[in-house]
Amino acid sequence: MWGTLHRTGNDGNHASKYKSQIATLRQIRTDMRFVTKVWLEQIRAEMRILTTAWLTPTMSALLLSVNYACPYVVASDSTSNQVGTPHGRPVNESPSSKRTSKTRPYQGIDVRSFYEHIHKTPELGKAEFKTAEFLRSKLKDFGYSEFVDEPTLPTAVIAVLNTGKEGPTICFRAEMDARKCQEETGLSFASTTPGIMHNCGHDAHAAILLETAHKLMMESSSLRGKFVFLFQPAEESAGGADDIVNDGVLKKLGVQAIFAQHCASGVEVGKHTLHGGAIMAGSNTFSVKLSGTGGHAAQPHERDDLAGLSSLITLELERIPARCFDVVQYPTVCNVSTSKWSSEQVNVAPDTITLGGTVRAFYGIDDKLFRGKSFRELFEQLVNGLSNAYGVKPEISLKPGSPVTVNDPKLCDRVLKLLSSDKISVEDAERSMFAEDFAFYTAQIPSAYFGLGIARGAVGKDNVHSAHFNIDEDCLDSGVDLFMSIAENSSRLGL
Ligand SMILES: [Zn+2]
Ligand SMILES: [Zn+2]
Repeated sequence: MWGTLHRTGNDGNHASKYKSQIATLRQIRTDMRFVTKVWLEQIRAEMRILTTAWLTPTMSALLLSVNYACPYVVASDSTSNQVGTPHGRPVNESPSSKRTSKTRPYQGIDVRSFYEHIHKTPELGKAEFKTAEFLRSKLKDFGYSEFVDEPTLPTAVIAVLNTGKEGPTICFRAEMDARKCQEETGLSFASTTPGIMHNCGHDAHAAILLETAHKLMMESSSLRGKFVFLFQPAEESAGGADDIVNDGVLKKLGVQAIFAQHCASGVEVGKHTLHGGAIMAGSNTFSVKLSGTGGHAAQPHERDDLAGLSSLITLELERIPARCFDVVQYPTVCNVSTSKWSSEQVNVAPDTITLGGTVRAFYGIDDKLFRGKSFRELFEQLVNGLSNAYGVKPEISLKPGSPVTVNDPKLCDRVLKLLSSDKISVEDAERSMFAEDFAFYTAQIPSAYFGLGIARGAVGKDNVHSAHFNIDEDCLDSGVDLFMSIAENSSRLGL
């Protein structure tokens, strides 16, 4: 039916008319599935109680198989030939039975609709009010009632699933915030907010975590321990993970290990990456403000040469890593990224120029690693020395941001073994100079931060933060599979 509608829509008017019909029908289909699913879950729950208490095992098996053979819950996605529920469960499998590798790969309809909804309505860090409302309301629909407040971050959503059985407490974390960027993907569910876009994959991460919470709630009777679902605001700006760590929320909940995954551009869908130890650099930011006498550009002898000085500082700062360190031991990036001039007229010499940039490194900027000096001391020595030569007094600010992201090697070893027995494909991850505020958790709690393969064909190749960033939606399924496997095996993690 979808194919016929698409084929007949050749001219512009017909195409848009049929597109809107298709969108409406899709929405109806999604709504019907959701309503049917909720209804069936209630019936299943009641049937389980009935069958356990009153009926013979034979009757029970018969009723469950009739229930799961209901055509309303058979996946009808045109891309799938599998017979099963929308969650890929075989028709005769009880929802409370333990998932095995046989039930994978997961194929979910809900996770796609969650992703597309969040993608369409992006919000910046600490302003994720609609996203938080959406997540919270879905979690309530799934049966969640235990939510934890995060005092510093009102848009954080933290839900807890307590199975009531002895076992470890583990946390899954996803980000919620979008970025300032005008989307250029051309997707049918592209951002409806001008100038803001989900182009770091946080929409995918949140959708995966939401669907994981959904599935774990349905399977809770076969699980042990406690699960914390942390939807974290403001990964892209200051004060997200660090606020949560400083407020001690996860400590109070007794979290013993924390897991996250992030879209990895260029990595094939179905694959994950992981590396025990330091995996991403620490991020530090700096600004250098140069002030002096400005004036007419035709009279350089009458004013300070801030343009010349700022150029020299830019070149020399970027040379610190290459000339002052053992580059094999201490890979470092020092990058001047912005330059603001008090005047933008070509015939005026500015009286202030402010440079801004980032320092990425696998060590602290105050560690005295370089002939008894720290990176900060080398930085200040260079800027002060050059400015002094030009007769200018600089104002320097160099602030540490996210620390180094360090995956716990023991936890990674254990989780890799469990995942491989569950046929989840994980390759070794390469270290990178990117930074992540997940690092704040890794400094406190044993952690594993995975890369999530998102690429197929031409899709998923653009870097995160690009206006063209996009994912192959099958990655949502493999993301759910990863978290489900970890959750189901959490009591074997040795925590
Ligand atoms: Zn990002
Ligand atoms: Zn990100």
